[in-house]
Amino acid sequence: MTHLPEKLLTGYHNFMHGRFEVESDRYRRLAQEGQAPDTLVIACCDSRSAPETIFDAGPGELFVLRNVANLVPPYEPDGEFHATSAALEFAVQALKVKNIVVMGHGRCGGIKAALDPAMKPLSPGDFIGRWMSLLAPATEAVAGNSMMTTTERQTALERISIRYSIANLRTFPCVKILEDKGRLTIYGAWFDISTGELWVMNKETGDFERPEAG
Ligand SMILES: [Zn+2]
Repeated sequence: MTHLPEKLLTGYHNFMHGRFEVESDRYRRLAQEGQAPDTLVIACCDSRSAPETIFDAGPGELFVLRNVANLVPPYEPDGEFHATSAALEFAVQALKVKNIVVMGHGRCGGIKAALDPAMKPLSPGDFIGRWMSLLAPATEAVAGNSMMTTTERQTALERISIRYSIANLRTFPCVKILEDKGRLTIYGAWFDISTGELWVMNKETGDFERPEAG
């Protein structure tokens, strides 16, 4: 009788005898000194878009916030349960990260569900529907565009959602103030799962551009 799935135990074994052994000094130092990552990545929960894998990051390098469709809600200090805002607050105010990267990805299930009028709630509470309603104005605009194919609509909304999350980031006073002071920089990126390409948002135009080769 094991208390964890076999695959996870095997993976953990490999980790202990591989990466942990190689990086044990680093883990010990991080344990003693605490974490000091420079960058917060806000990514989707999707199992194919893990920031640590995509950015080849070691322990202590990235502070990662993942939720359905990498959305940032607007600043709402209303006493409700705001998991994303709490993680954001910790990264910016306690860890004092220098960079925030909002990273969306292709074939995002959350975005697909938002665009699909036939999509039924998974539960009576419909947490996903409520969460994705953050994007409602953009979703309606994109869903109603009959000139675009389904795939084009999907990619468009994935990218719009990144710009939207970045706009919401700036509604948090701590983010806005630090960005205005030049102590925090915000980036957008979109990961193409099938090719592995990371498209980066041009800060001036908001367009997503293919990375330079190399
Ligand atoms: Zn996703």
